[in-house]
Amino acid sequence: MDIEELKGQVSGEIDARRHQLSELSLKIHSNPELGFQEVKAATWLAQYLEENGFSIERGICELPTAFRGSYGQGKPAIAILAEYDALPNLGHACGHNLIAATAVGAGVASKLAIDRFGGNILIIGTPSEELNGGKAIMADRGAFDNVDMAMMVHPATHDTATTEALACLALEVEFFGKAAHAAARPEAGINALEAMLQSFAAINSLRQHIKDKARIHGIITDGGEVANVVPAHSAGIFLVRAEDDNYLDELKEKVLNCFIGAATASGARLEYRWGDVRYAPLRNNLTLAQLFTQNMQSLGRKVELSDPNKGFGSTDMGNVSQLVPSIHPSVAIAPREVASHSPQFASAAASEAGIQGLLDAAKALAMTVVDLVANPEIVIKVKQEFEQNK
Ligand SMILES: [Zn+2]
Ligand SMILES: [Zn+2]
Repeated sequence: MDIEELKGQVSGEIDARRHQLSELSLKIHSNPELGFQEVKAATWLAQYLEENGFSIERGICELPTAFRGSYGQGKPAIAILAEYDALPNLGHACGHNLIAATAVGAGVASKLAIDRFGGNILIIGTPSEELNGGKAIMADRGAFDNVDMAMMVHPATHDTATTEALACLALEVEFFGKAAHAAARPEAGINALEAMLQSFAAINSLRQHIKDKARIHGIITDGGEVANVVPAHSAGIFLVRAEDDNYLDELKEKVLNCFIGAATASGARLEYRWGDVRYAPLRNNLTLAQLFTQNMQSLGRKVELSDPNKGFGSTDMGNVSQLVPSIHPSVAIAPREVASHSPQFASAAASEAGIQGLLDAAKALAMTVVDLVANPEIVIKVKQEFEQNK
């Protein structure tokens, strides 16, 4: 049997499961669960894989809602990653329900390629992409140690082969001042809210003089209790992002100085804590990206190399991509004016276009698995590119 015929068969497997996969995706969509609480989604996904011949380990890496499904053995060990966490108040406004169904669909269809050529397909359930960087934790705990390459597809407004994602770190800050009657004894108070507002002003000034693509943004989570008391406490959470790790380190210091300066100016005491999880920038393996592109194009989709809108955020897939050759392409499920993390995008994640994106992405992933297991020389090329760009 030739490769194209096998690709037609794996693609046919996805079509045959259209109803099951869309049901699974819609079920997760209508039961949104926040990061590390994705009990239902993880259970349904692992169960689907188990019913289809995968061996399952639940709660891997000491994370109750992480899992690993495995079919076949030996090399290459190809991981397809599933995300399934939702956003507070917005539900599946990042479309992770589609990522989940895409991953298990691609995994089950890939069995045909594994049966024919050998190798190992792994479907790795990676919780809490949005809030905790689950993959970064799993990467530290060895989840990708014996993996040769990792792939996932994220819903978006364009079909792209690569994704640009920034290094990112969170900063929690608190100012401690002194309460006093805001009118009768203002001179007795130290205003913790003013310290926070000055920090924002300093960061706004800093922003004029940072590199392109770097980002600093934050919110105030405590700004006082009542207007007639000088706020004795303020708190905020900020995210600092940069194109590479070195610049992120440089920026960290500059951002922190904004808070230190505000503390000095106001007399409030500063306490801060950098986040435990640092999102790494995403390294796109272009050899893998090219295979994925060709397979998507064979389904009649137009795939661009990168997002023409030049949009970028951060993803914990970045941390995986530092360890093993990886791709994180996008599949269009909504018109280009629809923003991710919006109610409109949440609707798109349950739409007909969403299901079509799921099916096409699953087909292209499974066809890419065919390319990899059938052509050991491509696996070598994927790894060479990874080593050369280290
Ligand atoms: Zn998101
Ligand atoms: Zn997402």
